[in-house]
Amino acid sequence: MLVNAKEMLDNAYENGYAIGHFNTNNLEWTKAILLAAEEKKTPVIIATSEGASKYMGGFKVVADLVKAMHDGLGITVPVAIHLDHGSYEGAKACIEAGFTSVMFDGSHFPLEENLEKTKEIVELAHSKGISVEAEVGGIGGTEDGVTSSGEVADVEECKQIAACGIDFLAAGIGNIHGVYPDDWEGLNFDVLKEISDAVKMPIVLHGGTGIPDEQIKKAISLGVSKINVNTECQLVFAEATRKYIEAGKDLEGKGFDPRKLLADGTQAIIDKVEEKIDMFGSANTAK
Ligand SMILES: [Zn+2]
Repeated sequence: MLVNAKEMLDNAYENGYAIGHFNTNNLEWTKAILLAAEEKKTPVIIATSEGASKYMGGFKVVADLVKAMHDGLGITVPVAIHLDHGSYEGAKACIEAGFTSVMFDGSHFPLEENLEKTKEIVELAHSKGISVEAEVGGIGGTEDGVTSSGEVADVEECKQIAACGIDFLAAGIGNIHGVYPDDWEGLNFDVLKEISDAVKMPIVLHGGTGIPDEQIKKAISLGVSKINVNTECQLVFAEATRKYIEAGKDLEGKGFDPRKLLADGTQAIIDKVEEKIDMFGSANTAK
């Protein structure tokens, strides 16, 4: 069932678990995420960045691929198609292209401009039944070539953006994109609690790769209801594919057939997504 992300995240927020947001990069990724969610009987969010969408041939390709594969595989769990870190123009384009959920990331704009643009996107998206995520403060690390130093979000700013009518909020609490450095200080739970008490809506944790499980679970208990996972799937896909080639399997028989060449990597994504779903606590929550 293709849906927006509001109901699944409200359910997660009320019942103390989190929904996995997994970024897709191509056909194999999309298939792996859908199969894992169906196996685990959980709602799922399939996301793409603007960069990954461009790579795949545009927003419509992504929306149509997810929809067609959802139908073709007979997926029964709720699936949302979400834009990750969308620009103002990108979010509008995805609303037209058939996405069911968008993130408008105006965190690099002055606050007033972020609030104003977020309101516009909310109005447009909600008129079409599409859910909206917005962000204040920065999230550290690098995504699509944009590097942010990783602020901890300001509670007042969180309240103001929540008042724009958004459905879920991305707020920096010491999390970063990509692989965490050895001297990382961990998540800031005091700030998370303050934000959570102030906005009373599902909070999104970006940069889910490499945060220790205990910290993830504590964050969920404090209101985090959506956890973004991207890098970790890329790492396990690359590792499994490298093993296949280094073992010379592509040179045996028809091992060069892309269906075989990419099979181990695809399975590694399925395994990783299932592992995350179990850890986030959303398995068996799909009605
Ligand atoms: Zn992010």
